Amino acid sequence: MNGLEHKDGERCIVCENVKEKGYHILSAFICNECDKDIIQTETDDQAYMFFVKQLRKIMTKQNISYS
Ligand SMILES: [Zn+2]
Repeated sequence: MNGLEHKDGERCIVCENVKEKGYHILSAFICNECDKDIIQTETDDQAYMFFVKQLRKIMTKQNISYS
């Protein structure tokens, strides 16, 4: 329980691939590559809207299935 079990990575909510490197926003995981995309994306860009949609989807899913 000291983090060593995390070698296989986690599933990114944006690209939905399992990646080793990234960070958590709320309880969702975002890989470094998608993070870069988001930072370089204008807020009215479609990619940003896609990201927000994915994030909302995850949050909604967790709210429903966590009971
Ligand atoms: Zn990703």
